[in-house]
Amino acid sequence: MRRYLFTPGPVELSEKVKRALTIDMVSHRSREFSSLMERLQSKLKALMDTDGPVLLFPGSGTFALEALIVNLISEGDKVLSFSCGHFGERFREIVSRLGANIVSIDKPYGEVFTKDDVTVALEDHKDVTAILITHNETSTGAVNPIEDITKCIPENGPLVLVDAVSSLGVMPCFPRKWRVDGIASCSQKGLMVPPGIGIAWLSDRAWKRVYERRTCPSYSMDFTMMRTYLEKELPQTPATPPVSLFFALDASLAEVEAEGGFEKRFQERQLYARALCSAVKECGLELLVKEEYARSPGVTAICIPDKADAVRSNLRKRGIEIAGGQGSLKNKIIRVGHYTRESISELRYFIQALREASQEAGIVLKETNLDKIDNIFAGGCI
Ligand SMILES: *Cc1c(COP(=O)(O)O)cnc(C)c1O
Repeated sequence: MRRYLFTPGPVELSEKVKRALTIDMVSHRSREFSSLMERLQSKLKALMDTDGPVLLFPGSGTFALEALIVNLISEGDKVLSFSCGHFGERFREIVSRLGANIVSIDKPYGEVFTKDDVTVALEDHKDVTAILITHNETSTGAVNPIEDITKCIPENGPLVLVDAVSSLGVMPCFPRKWRVDGIASCSQKGLMVPPGIGIAWLSDRAWKRVYERRTCPSYSMDFTMMRTYLEKELPQTPATPPVSLFFALDASLAEVEAEGGFEKRFQERQLYARALCSAVKECGLELLVKEEYARSPGVTAICIPDKADAVRSNLRKRGIEIAGGQGSLKNKIIRVGHYTRESISELRYFIQALREASQEAGIVLKETNLDKIDNIFAGGCI
């Protein structure tokens, strides 16, 4: 039986990425490693449509968020935290542990923030140092409209710090163009690489802040040191990096380029998500995110009240690994990731398995005409 890893990270690896993981080890002080670093810089800058250094370091997404914060936020800073899910709460918690003074603005799970929400909050709290927001809220499958939201933030306003852990590589994420000041991400979601690389990018304004603070309280997360090493004649990292993962990241970025580039990938993931949502609704199930425009191209949350865990374990028997609900959504939803190259055949298999898994849990789904789904794909470029 084929195994399908439909979790919102880590995700299935391509053959090319798996091969890259076995490339002979090189010294991280060698020319070969420096040219790998240069390739990664240029590919990641192209992906984000930006310039300035893209920092790569060992770590998970959570680690990258903490690294971003430890370099930019000091004890006592007032920070406005927008959260519409589990990961928004985690980002807030990281900042709160560093002693920042947090103002929390929350939305129910499944909803997203609008420009108006942020405008109102900023009027009430003009003196904040930074705002925190999650781009793709993986716990609900909802995407905050960052590009729109930043329009209401004045030029010299608070720093906009974005959790882009589950958005980078699967949907447009253009921090410079969108006037974002800092993003944190990692390797195992939209970039389709094993877990282990943390990623961060800062705006000029944010770098200025980093340099103005006397010292970063963390040694291994010190961004100024990372930047100094990156800008040496032979670009490198201050400490030993996960070299094999760097090769894998290089291979994954090259593979997407060879397949037609990231724009094409973003469209394909969006189409897949749309087709999946349409099929799920035809089955008679509800989606957690009601607003179509806010639905994620990478992960979809399906409501299965009080039977989500049963359906999840029935899917596992059919070779499909998905994620469950977190926090208050436990046993209320299942979350299906579609971060890699899933296409019509995976969709058909998933819907069929979902039908059987639900039936086994005592839920009878409506008949669906899956040929209609083919039409959704036909409208795009899959
Ligand atoms: C996965 C995820 C994280 C945490 O990433 P880890 O690699 O598990 O530490 C943080 N934020 C978002 C939005 C995520 O999807």
